[in-house]
Amino acid sequence: MLKELTAKSMLHYHEQTFATNWDANIYRGCEHNCRYCFAQYSHRYLDTANFFKDIFVKSNAPEILTRELNRRLWKKYPVNVCGVSDCYQPQEAGYKIMPDVIRSFITTKNPLVITTKSTLILRDIALLKELNELVDVSIVISVSTLDEEKRLLIEPNAAPTLERMKMLRQFTEIGCKTAVLFMPIIPCISDDQKNLNEIFKITKEYNLGPINAWPLHLRGKTRSVFFAFLKDHFPELLSDYRILYENGSVSDEYRNMLHKKIRDLREKYQLYSIYKPTAPKDCRPAQLALF
Ligand code: SF4
Repeated sequence: MLKELTAKSMLHYHEQTFATNWDANIYRGCEHNCRYCFAQYSHRYLDTANFFKDIFVKSNAPEILTRELNRRLWKKYPVNVCGVSDCYQPQEAGYKIMPDVIRSFITTKNPLVITTKSTLILRDIALLKELNELVDVSIVISVSTLDEEKRLLIEPNAAPTLERMKMLRQFTEIGCKTAVLFMPIIPCISDDQKNLNEIFKITKEYNLGPINAWPLHLRGKTRSVFFAFLKDHFPELLSDYRILYENGSVSDEYRNMLHKKIRDLREKYQLYSIYKPTAPKDCRPAQLALF
């Protein structure tokens, strides 16, 4: 179900950052249905708890963004438009709000970051190229496994991992900044050496930019949803997971073991882990009070 919402504001500051501290979520909820989704908490103020089926779109997002990105004191910080949902999830194929969202970034000449697991973004590549000729456009993909059988269980409605990587290559070819989030790495499911090596190898071969890699976290609602998933599909792993995830983070022993493997792969493929789009130094939210 897709329901329209009217937004009063779009730009939101958050302390924790990968690419930028500023988000503008176009959608609430996400049909990609990743079993490990960290963003499920974001449905708590809506009149439904079904994050994966009840999808909300901020129908006036382009108009509000144009207004906010034009404000005199706004310093053209890069804005990530896929924070707690994927704005190229399947509903976008029919709703088509993203072309107007990108046009609002073109009109205001504001850097844009898009993090997606979908190849639908290729529909808008001409607009993104136009924006990239004015300011930085950063396209980031997140990936978990190249094993399609497992991927279909873990991220059933996202694009196949290799398709995502091929899509990202097209954005490197038109000059956008690109990066790979290898996350989450799922213990005993996607952490085999073959998968780790292949993701790094393709990132290097396709010239996809830096790669960040993290193990799965199981906090809040994500924990119960993921344990239910394990019970259905990998029941033999339940007892190991109870030991590995005594709390929200994986055990120190596992994390150290994984970090060593990742360090070795960085060295082997000479891939960096840090990614930042070009941004003004002062990225704090104090200016918002002056708007
Ligand atoms: S794509 Fe992101 S927001 Fe959507 S279900 Fe997957 S993890 Fe959650």
